[in-house]
Amino acid sequence: MAQPETFSFSRVTTFEQCPRRYRYRYLDGVREAFQSIEAFMGQQVHATVEWLYNQRLAGHEHAVEAAVGRYCTEFDKAHSASKPTVRVIRADMAAEYYRRSGAEMLADFHRRRFVADGLETVAMERHFVLDLGAGAPFQGYIDRLARDSDGTLHIIDFKTGARVPARFEGKDADQLDAYALALFTQTDADELVLVLEYLRTATAHTKRVRRSQIEEVRRRLAARIAAARSATVFPPIPGSLCDWCGFNDLCEAYPSRRVGPARFGR
Ligand code: SF4
Repeated sequence: MAQPETFSFSRVTTFEQCPRRYRYRYLDGVREAFQSIEAFMGQQVHATVEWLYNQRLAGHEHAVEAAVGRYCTEFDKAHSASKPTVRVIRADMAAEYYRRSGAEMLADFHRRRFVADGLETVAMERHFVLDLGAGAPFQGYIDRLARDSDGTLHIIDFKTGARVPARFEGKDADQLDAYALALFTQTDADELVLVLEYLRTATAHTKRVRRSQIEEVRRRLAARIAAARSATVFPPIPGSLCDWCGFNDLCEAYPSRRVGPARFGR
């Protein structure tokens, strides 16, 4: 079943990267045949980071061993429950490699970022819905909303992917700019701090943004949503990420498409 027409940042970027994938997921409502092990591992790491901060909010501090232990337990539980829909794409890798890699990045994050963090957490997974005047609402989830000692709000997003940019830029930066737009709309803040936490390197890129800069963000985001909404053709754009696309068994452009059980999209 097609999903209701609410736009997320992920929906916008899916359209821009491959309109066919966008059509399968958001217009045809087709379920992806699998989830990549990288995305699955990222979910488990995110869940444990969220747990750590929620536990701190409730007055419980957990050592690195407890965090890693919880992650491993949840990973194993979810992995055995979700088989066979979690897929290891790279032929030279096994699920155990990703499990260990998630545990290592979580341990590093705990030692180098979590322990030293002095911000007050306001909310985890803060949901917002925003009317941009683009004909469809824009929604998102802020991984962590926190406040510093000056009272300035920090919008924090945790990234577990392999790609770590050299500075605050690109798709990750655009996403946080869009989230800042929501906070400026919903609060009277004049300035916000945007934080991209890269768990793979236990580093962060930050940017301060002022209310006066945000109109341009609104204009660009509304235009991107309008482009997706008005599209009438959805060509496939094959590339290096096709192996990780859960619709590649449907897509005629998938380079290594094999003949197998057919699924039918629009
Ligand atoms: S297999 Fe590649 S071209 Fe086809 S829908 Fe997926 S990402 Fe797009």
